[in-house]
Amino acid sequence: MSSPNPSSVAPPAGVVSFEAARHLVEQHAVGACPGEVETVDLLAALGRVLAEGIAADRDFPPFARATRDGYAVRSADLAQLPAQLQVMGEVKAGEWPDPGVCSVGPGQAVGIMTGAPLPAGADAVVMVEYTALTGTAVEVEIRRSVNPGENFVPRGAEARAGDLLLDRGRRLDHAAIAIAASVGKSRVQVFRKPRVAVLSTGDEVVEIDATPGQAEIRNSNSYSLAAQVQNAGGDPVRLAIAPDERGRLRELIKEGLSCDLLLLTGGVSMGKYDLVEQVLGELNAEFYFTGAQIQPGRPVVFGSCSCGAGALARVPAPMSPSARAGAPAPPKKYFFGLPGNPVSTMVTFELFARPMIQALAGMTPQPLIFLRARLKSEIRTKTGLKRFLPAVLSGEFENAEVELARWQGSGDIAALAQANCYVVIPPDRERIEVGEWVPLLMR
Ligand code: AMP
Ligand code: MG
Repeated sequence: MSSPNPSSVAPPAGVVSFEAARHLVEQHAVGACPGEVETVDLLAALGRVLAEGIAADRDFPPFARATRDGYAVRSADLAQLPAQLQVMGEVKAGEWPDPGVCSVGPGQAVGIMTGAPLPAGADAVVMVEYTALTGTAVEVEIRRSVNPGENFVPRGAEARAGDLLLDRGRRLDHAAIAIAASVGKSRVQVFRKPRVAVLSTGDEVVEIDATPGQAEIRNSNSYSLAAQVQNAGGDPVRLAIAPDERGRLRELIKEGLSCDLLLLTGGVSMGKYDLVEQVLGELNAEFYFTGAQIQPGRPVVFGSCSCGAGALARVPAPMSPSARAGAPAPPKKYFFGLPGNPVSTMVTFELFARPMIQALAGMTPQPLIFLRARLKSEIRTKTGLKRFLPAVLSGEFENAEVELARWQGSGDIAALAQANCYVVIPPDRERIEVGEWVPLLMR
């Protein structure tokens, strides 16, 4: 039997729409400060966030660069086709064409390879496919005309020396790594990863290497969350499992608040032993929302608290009397209370915790990107909540189609593992027909 929580420490915030909840997180994320700066080797910076801007060290490309194998020509020479041009020489990638020997005057051409500098006098490159060497290879026949500027990239067309190529706050992916490499940055300055405490709660939850009792389950949430934290650019700190008992829960929450962010799972519903909100309330936490009109994940909680041990303040806290008197303000940390059902935990992390981790990592939080695909089989549901239902996106090439994964509800991680996206269903829709374009979030 379960009865509702006592309301003595009821938080003031309420249940809000998905959009309002997301905006609240984004608004708070704007004020979150990243950690210290460190310098790491370029490849070790994959997935890290730049603490410095990276500028072009020279023009890109640094010379007019041929983009085709063929002949560098004067386009005006090709008014009459076929045209016979005198071959003055050849320039390979990595060679600098000597202007005295290897340049293009009227009626002349120079053989050129992709990546080689355009010789003086030329204003275009004709692809080798449209040419034929005649006689002793000192003459080439050109069978197609070209426009001035064709088949080469002018010097500096991609970037000028000094142009900013990567902003501070940019997370490094393989394309950004390519840019850093191309300007000679073998080491880069990045922000320290935010330390994100992961605290699972529940009397039934046991460590994954324990043999669970008949009514016990293994702590999968700690691991899925730690993996999501890593993927979002954070450094997970998995805490001990908190029982559904105030004293130990309070201790572990305080421990978690010494990190840069605290993620709790379980214990945020309305059951008699769902103590997370109560204990946070007793620690004078401030709640920004205590539920979102979504499924899965309705009981999700977001707030902040200034009672953790140690660590630098990562949130500008209002000036307290002690701070005005010279003592440092107590560090204020954000927390999310995520519902314990494993699918709810994963979904609410993506919807709400990820942007905060991005901000603490030094990035501008990234917007959610909704794609669209045609629905493969009809969906019937109830109105009232915005739903993010595990689904399978398939189809060949551009013909994307999506259908719901067969799942047994928010505890069904087997179904979620088969799914590759979530179909998003607005709160006012009861039935969605086959063939309709539906929004989805990749996972
Ligand atoms: P709660 O949110 O505490 O009411 O838990 C909801 C459901 O999620 C229950 O069936 C729990 O047993 C399950 N659950 C809670 N915490 C975890 C966890 N750490 N790992 C896996 N399942 C969990
Ligand atoms: Mg529980």
